[in-house]
Amino acid sequence: MSGFEFSIPAHRHRQGTAFVTSMSSTHHAKDLLQEVFGYSEFRPMQEDIIQQLMAGGNAFVLMPTGGGKSLCYQVPALLRQGTAIVISPLISLMHNQVHALQQSGVRAEYLNSSRSSADNWQIEQQLLRGELDLLYVAPERLVMPAFQQLLKRISVALFAIDEAHCVSQWGHDFREEYTQLDCLARSFPQVPRIALTATADELTRSEIVERLSLHDAPCFISSFDRANIHYSIFSGLNPAREHLLDFINGKHAGHSGIVYCTSRKDTESLAHWLASKNINAAPFHAGLSPETKHQTLTRFLTENDLVVVATIAFGMGIDKPDVRFVAHMNLPDCIESYYQETGRAGRDGLPADAWLHYSLADLAKLGKRINNAPVSEQIRQRKQYKLNAIHSLCEMPTCRRVRLLSYFGEQATRPCGNCDNCLHPPTTWNATLPARKALSAMARTREKFGAKHLTDVLLGKDNPKVVGFEHHKLSVFGIGKDDLTESQWLGLFRQLTALECIETNVDTFGLRMTPRGRSLMKGEFEIELRQIAAQAHKRERSARKRNAQPASDTNISHEDSPLWEALRAKRRALASELGIAPFMVFSDASLRSMIAVNPRNLDQFLEVEGVGKHKQAKFGEDFLNILSAFS
Ligand code: ADP
Ligand code: ZN
Repeated sequence: MSGFEFSIPAHRHRQGTAFVTSMSSTHHAKDLLQEVFGYSEFRPMQEDIIQQLMAGGNAFVLMPTGGGKSLCYQVPALLRQGTAIVISPLISLMHNQVHALQQSGVRAEYLNSSRSSADNWQIEQQLLRGELDLLYVAPERLVMPAFQQLLKRISVALFAIDEAHCVSQWGHDFREEYTQLDCLARSFPQVPRIALTATADELTRSEIVERLSLHDAPCFISSFDRANIHYSIFSGLNPAREHLLDFINGKHAGHSGIVYCTSRKDTESLAHWLASKNINAAPFHAGLSPETKHQTLTRFLTENDLVVVATIAFGMGIDKPDVRFVAHMNLPDCIESYYQETGRAGRDGLPADAWLHYSLADLAKLGKRINNAPVSEQIRQRKQYKLNAIHSLCEMPTCRRVRLLSYFGEQATRPCGNCDNCLHPPTTWNATLPARKALSAMARTREKFGAKHLTDVLLGKDNPKVVGFEHHKLSVFGIGKDDLTESQWLGLFRQLTALECIETNVDTFGLRMTPRGRSLMKGEFEIELRQIAAQAHKRERSARKRNAQPASDTNISHEDSPLWEALRAKRRALASELGIAPFMVFSDASLRSMIAVNPRNLDQFLEVEGVGKHKQAKFGEDFLNILSAFS
């Protein structure tokens, strides 16, 4: 696509900004991308969305985390007359975005309760004087009558509603005030509105359109593929934390990561244990004091290697581009959550890992929670369907990405080559006979028992429960002794559930047969199952060891070089001088690009990815000195 042109409104010239003054009156969005943000090309969709807003239209944008949503409104904010108002749900998000924009010379500010009223007053004055390109506000402030009055006195370039899924009452992130944002359409019908989210669920989409009055807005859906994320899923590793440690030491020593656990207690004990193994780790959950949470969040943003062990309370505000891995110690409740959480890895586009370990117990716990939730039958079924979907993602023997994308309605043309199943295809085996034995055991015990008890019956264990129910007298007692081990039987039940041959009876918590299971028992078809995941994990590990080079090297080249370290040290020093996070000075991607471009002077420094005019002037000399010292 070629660049397109817009006229910069005359009044912008009168005001003048650090960069606008140097622009001609007709300006390419693409030039602005280069001069301000330091990028040479738009990503797919960004240009179309910008064009839509420049033409005065509304837009609804669905892009995965890290897809580059912010630029879609930041560029028009700079090109259109007036100030763009960005509605953002969290102070930490606003803070990050504003500081990052300021580093690129953009006149951005935020108003919120964390600042003194004197500060907020100052910013309102700037707004009234037309000195701001972007203003970030929380939804509760936006809907206040006083703020609405203020907006009537200025020229608004556009409204951007970030994290638009917060209007959805079904979601984790529901925010009451978001539902009042429909006032924008009524009070400012001429001002373009853009809603953005990374949550792709159908129902959420229609809720956003409805509640934000975006019926006339074209929907821009970019691919949800996060090609740089390597997915791997395990179960039956015992103890799982040893394997996690192995994974961190093997592939992510010295990297930033997030480890999700379900309970607060688990986050604390796991963080403590990791710390005892020399990993820089800290817990995070909703029960900690605000100061501790703030401190951990700040450490996460400023330290290069902190691993935060968290509940999902550590979520939406995490806008750090260089998180190299996200690990789950338990099964998430649906693919949406899993995708959103793993999406926090590798926003910078560099290789990153999504590592998940789960157990049958997780599955049972989640099933129980759904069953006990005070919700309608319809919602219960929907939740159960979602749980089945993530379970079957875990058990499948083929490409994970193909399944993930198809879940979000996207058709992948071929296996990705960057997930555990693609790289180390699990061996499958014909499990028809053991499966029939398992189904018979279920039938004989009247489909009232769980996998553990059924396994005991199949293995011929005459423990008190088996004897109590007189299951040691059944013909199926001990018929599975020679086929499989205990953990293999448990794995078989898991996979039969994932394949929808059996399901959990929500009344009795016993396993029962589906029509498909009945047809399997009758011998109407055969099944192939994957080898249990523990074996696959061992294969991945030994494959890694065979490829003798250190794993981190395959992730980020140059990472071990003294030059890389020197650039990182400079970045850290500048960031701490400025009181901002290192990635706001330059991303890892920019540092890599610096090494590749190897600029000799300030002009060449502009060729580095992520270097615009402002950063060229502000940081160029410092980094050029280091580069020349190493040449
Ligand atoms: P999102 O809000 O969709 O999660 P961001 O807007 O934070 O994503 O963008 C993710 C990363 O991609 C940021 O580091 C951003 O600077 C970078 N980025 C966005 N657009 C481009 C582009 N056209 N070229 C290069 N990098 C880009
Ligand atoms: Zn794959």
